[in-house]
Amino acid sequence: MKTTDLTTPTTLVEAIRYFSDPDICLKFMVALRWPHGVECPQCGSDKVTFLANARLWKCHTKHPRQKFSVKVGTIFEDSPIALDKWLAAIWMIANDKNGVSSYEIGREIGVTQKSAWFMLHRIRLAMQTGTFKKLSGQVESDARNMHKWKKEKSIKGRGTAGKAIVMGILERHGKDTVSRVRAKVIHSTATPTIEKEIREAVEPNSELFTDELSSYAGLDKEYTHRVINHMEAYVKGNVHTNGIENFWSLLKRTIRGTYVSVEPFHLFRYVDEQSFRFNNRDDDNAARFATVLSAVTGKRITYKHLTGKDRPASFTTPA
Ligand SMILES: [Zn+2]
Repeated sequence: MKTTDLTTPTTLVEAIRYFSDPDICLKFMVALRWPHGVECPQCGSDKVTFLANARLWKCHTKHPRQKFSVKVGTIFEDSPIALDKWLAAIWMIANDKNGVSSYEIGREIGVTQKSAWFMLHRIRLAMQTGTFKKLSGQVESDARNMHKWKKEKSIKGRGTAGKAIVMGILERHGKDTVSRVRAKVIHSTATPTIEKEIREAVEPNSELFTDELSSYAGLDKEYTHRVINHMEAYVKGNVHTNGIENFWSLLKRTIRGTYVSVEPFHLFRYVDEQSFRFNNRDDDNAARFATVLSAVTGKRITYKHLTGKDRPASFTTPA
């Protein structure tokens, strides 16, 4: 196996070219999954032999599934689609500001639209923020009804289940951080829902900027609540929700433009996807790509590590 450097690509064209080499794909994934050497996913043993022709490993311990690929235990498991296509698709979805449709992915990487759609949903799983540190400091909250964003085909449904409202809560940035958003599909803007969402997402005693929706009123004792009166003046000092507006305009472009037929049931996936890009918007393409890919393999890994800047001595090509 050739010893190509793990220098990461910077553009989509470079990424597609780069990952078109199956050995590079493999090396990349191995570096992510097993930075300290390949381990059997079944028993954890590091006594394994690499079968170069099949690009598989064989565990020396006797148990079912002695042979395993790098895909085992990741979102790629059981997928007949080659790693190079998966990595290119991840690159696209991690980095296209407005999102990317299954049609575009299908065209770029040469799979059917149906396959691409399936791939996208699996990748979005990896983009979901698992645990989230509570927001604090200056926090903006706003709820938007998705009905208004649909052009022709309206979001239909009966009762509360059909309501498609997204609640966005944004922490304004401090000195060293970018503002980050936590967005979620909710089914009502009634007081119990709003109060629950705010308490779950925001540290007590934070400064809370909202519109005049009365559902926030009960939070006045726990938060320093500042209400924006849009009728009076749009911006009054720091009393505004312009931070969350930026997120809305991105989400709107994604839902209106790229994903024209988002069903209410799937809406949260697109909200998660856009939140991921928003919260990682200060990273470059390669770093955002690495963040998604590290979630795919279930490992938290730093970008520095991936690019080899602190690559452990044990890193070798899988041979
Ligand atoms: Zn084993």
